[in-house]
This record gives sequence, structure tokens and C-alpha cells, in this order.
Amino acid sequence: MLLQMIEDWMMLCVCDYAAQVRGKGFSVADRDKFLKRGISIAPTSLMITAFGEIIKSPWGPRGEILMRPDPKTETHVPAFHEEMTEERFVLADLTEMDGAPWAGCPRTWLANGLKALAEEAGLQVLGAFEHEFHLTGLEARRGDSYLLDAMRLPGPFAGAVLKTLRQNEIDPELFHPEFGADQYEVSCKATHGVTIADDGVRLREIVRAVARAFGRRAVFTPLLAPDKVGNGTHIHFSLQDLEGKPQSYDPKAPHGISQVAGQFLAGVLRHMPALCALTAPSAISYLRMRPNRWSATYNNLGLLDREAGVRVCTAIDRDGVTPAESFNFEYRASDGTANPYLTLGAIVWAGLQGIQEKLPLPEPTDSDPAEFSKEEQARRNLVHLPQSLEEALAALKADEVALGWMGPVLAEAYLVHKESELAVLDGKHMDEQCRYYFESY
Ligand code: GLU
Ligand code: MG
Repeated sequence: MLLQMIEDWMMLCVCDYAAQVRGKGFSVADRDKFLKRGISIAPTSLMITAFGEIIKSPWGPRGEILMRPDPKTETHVPAFHEEMTEERFVLADLTEMDGAPWAGCPRTWLANGLKALAEEAGLQVLGAFEHEFHLTGLEARRGDSYLLDAMRLPGPFAGAVLKTLRQNEIDPELFHPEFGADQYEVSCKATHGVTIADDGVRLREIVRAVARAFGRRAVFTPLLAPDKVGNGTHIHFSLQDLEGKPQSYDPKAPHGISQVAGQFLAGVLRHMPALCALTAPSAISYLRMRPNRWSATYNNLGLLDREAGVRVCTAIDRDGVTPAESFNFEYRASDGTANPYLTLGAIVWAGLQGIQEKLPLPEPTDSDPAEFSKEEQARRNLVHLPQSLEEALAALKADEVALGWMGPVLAEAYLVHKESELAVLDGKHMDEQCRYYFESY
């Protein structure tokens, strides 16, 4: 390959309703111009389904919106060998052409939720996404769950991901083989605000880029096939005041959960069936969210329970880490087909609602909620989470409060988008649906 014949490119992108990162590319020589000016797109671009069709759009061929880059998100993937070139991408907000916020923008929706949480409750969110995915082209050893040898299997892949994350100021936390064959997990250290979701998007794309560099594909579909192990994207979060002082932990409170954190969690759990439309937004997300899959089936708060809707994680008290600093919660009803801005936005808006209404802390469960009587479930406000995307969309449509957080433009666009996705899959067998998502994510 003659490197002097190749010009370096970069791309200005948004993470869209399908959680696909799409945008427009240009020569690195024009970097400053486009970072300043942004690039316009048709709003209907947001209506491209995960599978590439546009079925319906509120805007049709009309209108123009602007991708306005946030230079903090510029991401660089180096060339790891002679057969590849380096790449750069930058994430953007979607605005009106004059720079005013655009009501359909997922990133702005999250930013607005965080602003409201700061203004109305004096709180900020500390959090991180944890991503599970499959790698193609490996010859897994039988029983390779968490196996040291499974780290070696993709060659320099793990090390290249860790280094690329660090060079992009995303501090990696863990990288390990997961339970399933060819399945891995990578997580990063917790950070604040919109950056939590930015890092979620950037990390996935870094993993995809590094996998490509070594001739593989990183696949973030919820499920390869109906009987296979699922890929979750779990979201860890806790609350801090605006000075960064932890606010989730209270040693004197039941289970160590502070009053304000209890209210926040109560809001999330009450609205969880509707939130699923945003956090578990594919048709096959609901094959993963079944019992005995270590995902989530009820809107329960589980103490150290990896099948709870939200898990209360262990507070660490050693080596200079205090329980208040380490105490956090994990939202488990989410996967790689969800847009990280919408996922975190849903949690933040629902949590703020719980604080505003001063909702009481739901009683945590320490056993399977399916085993409670109907009366006991009702007493604890426990509901089964949706069992299909249709049910999740119906739950969102029926939740006036959640629709209110989204506003009419985002809510309509998102619902039309998801109904289009279902239309593409109509009549297809579950195995074929899994294949579609495998090919798209
Ligand atoms: N793979 C599981 C999921 O689909 C999660 C396993 C774990 O707890 O790490 O969410
Ligand atoms: Mg895991």
C-alpha cells in the first residue's frame, strides 16, 4: 500500500434513533472548517431504520437540520498495521440551521434532563456503560467462559482496544471474556453528564474499528440466536451534588440508599415499562429479557441480584475507597440496540420525576418477583416488563408523563421510527429477526 496516495478522512456523526452512528465524511485537511461550521442533513435521515429502510417520516423530503460538532468527542483510531489508515470521528448535536436546539435531538434531550436535575434537585449523575458483544471469526474453545485463553484468542485485540480507549481519554475499567462463546465485555470508569453517553457511543465505535483492523467484526446485537447468550449494555449510575459530593449513600438509611436516591430509583422503576421502549428498543431485545438469562424481567430493585430491573451494587469500603464513593445502581434492561443518550436520558428524566414527586423507596427484592403472589406484586408495585417491542411501545404511548419528558417532536419521530423497524420485520421468524440484527449491529 502506498501511503502517500491516501488522504486521511474524518467523519462528523450523530448516534441516531437506531443507535447507529451515521454522518458525513471529509478530508482531515478540512477539519477546522467543518468543526466550526457543522454540516447539514435532512431530518428524515433520523428515520433510517436499523436495517437501512425509510418507511415513514414526519418530515418526508422537507427540512434541514445541522450537525454541530462537539470537539470534546473527537475520537482517533490509529493505524495498527500497514494495511489500514487511521480514522477520526466527531459526535454532534442536532440543531436548527441557526444553531437553536432541535427538539428531535437525542443528545440535547439528555443534556436537558441533566440540566433540569441540576436546577431542580441540585444533583448530577456519575455513571458508565458496560458493553457486552460478540467477536466474529474466532474458534472458541468449548467452555471458554471467562477463560484466560479466550483473551489470547483474538490476538492483539484486547490490548489495542484498551490503548485506543486510553489515548482517547476514556479510562478503561475491565476487559474480559464473558460467559458466552466468542463473547467479551468492556467497561470504562465512571464519568459525569453527557460524557457518560458520549463515551458509551465512542467506546462501541472504537471496539468496532479495532475489530475491523484485525479482520473481525464486533457485534452488539442483543442475541445472536434465540437460544444463545445475550449481550446486555448495563448502565451504572449514582448521584452527586454539584460539587461532586456523593449523594446516593446513607449508612443510616435502609440498605444504605439515601432518601433522594430512593426517590430517584422509585421514578425509574415506576416508569420502567415505558423506558424499555428506549432502553431495550429492538424486536429481539425481549428474547434476551427472559428469566434465567441474567437480564431483567420485572421492574424490581434487587439487592446484588443480576436478574433485577435495577441492581443495588456492593458499596466498597477498603483501600481508600469509601462506601459513599463506590455505592451505585445498575440498570439492566438495556442492550446495544439502544441509543446511549436516550437510555441515560430516560433514566435521568424518570429519576427526576421520582424526586419531584418524593416517591418512597420501593422495597428491594431478594428473590424472584415471579414467585410472589399477584397481591404481593401489587403491594410492591411490581409489574412484569414488556415482553415484546410492541408492548414496550404501547407502554410508552400510555405513559403521558414519559411522553411529556420527550416532547411531541422526539416522541413522534421515535415512535414512527420504531414502528417502521417492526414493519420491516413483519412476518419474519425469530431466527431471521436475530439474523437481521446480527447483520446490523
Ligand atoms: N449477558 C447478560 C445480559 O444479557 C449479563 C451477564 C452479566 O451479568 O454480566 O445482560
Ligand atoms: Mg457482563
